[in-house]
Amino acid sequence: MIKSKYQKQRNALADLLADKGIRDDRVISAIRDIPRHTFVDSALWTRAYEDIALPIGLDQTISQPYTVARQTELLELQPGAKILEIGTGSGYQCAVLCEMGAKVYSIERHKALHERSREQLRDMGYRPMLKCDDGTLGWGAYAPYDGIVVTAGAPVVPSDLVAQLAVGGKLVIPVGDSTSQKMHVITRVTEDNFDEKVYEGFKFVPLIGEKGW
Ligand code: SAM
Repeated sequence: MIKSKYQKQRNALADLLADKGIRDDRVISAIRDIPRHTFVDSALWTRAYEDIALPIGLDQTISQPYTVARQTELLELQPGAKILEIGTGSGYQCAVLCEMGAKVYSIERHKALHERSREQLRDMGYRPMLKCDDGTLGWGAYAPYDGIVVTAGAPVVPSDLVAQLAVGGKLVIPVGDSTSQKMHVITRVTEDNFDEKVYEGFKFVPLIGEKGW
């Protein structure tokens, strides 16, 4: 993995996220290591280690670091876990998942973002499977997944994503209206039984697609 400048700012961000309640040390360590500034335009580099979302073009954002950390922590992923991400965006959360040892599949609906993140992740030495498509339908060819993380706000939980969970797997998805969403974590307990927990509120860009907005 490419090491680069801003290490002091990255350390401060990682410490801040731990102070804000992120308990998974592997998540904190990935945030400490991954150069977030390289996922945004160089005009924004000096702001890349503030705990804020930043624009990445096409009215989309790289999520706030706390949000990335919280969603990743809620996946409770094991090394080698097969994870599907909906909304590649800048590629940053995908990098966090790869850095933690997951085998990552990620879908982005905007071609320009898909291509830019593919190049960025490849340059950094990560090898996720990426495609440009409507992620509300999941990625059936590689299902089932140990975890699915949706990084855009959904009006309802898309049924295809639930269907593509492995037994024991978790779907982490923000659900609500266009102004705010609660984080839902759906665990497939057995083939036919699911447990659902609802966590704190967030504000995401909309999940747009056949089973989204
Ligand atoms: N994980 C991203 C990151 O680290 O930069 C977050 C990106 S942003 C908050 C959410 C992304 O979801 C946007 O890039 C948006 O285009 C994408 N998106 C929205 N609806 C989608 C869909 N149905 N399928 C795939 N991507 C979608």
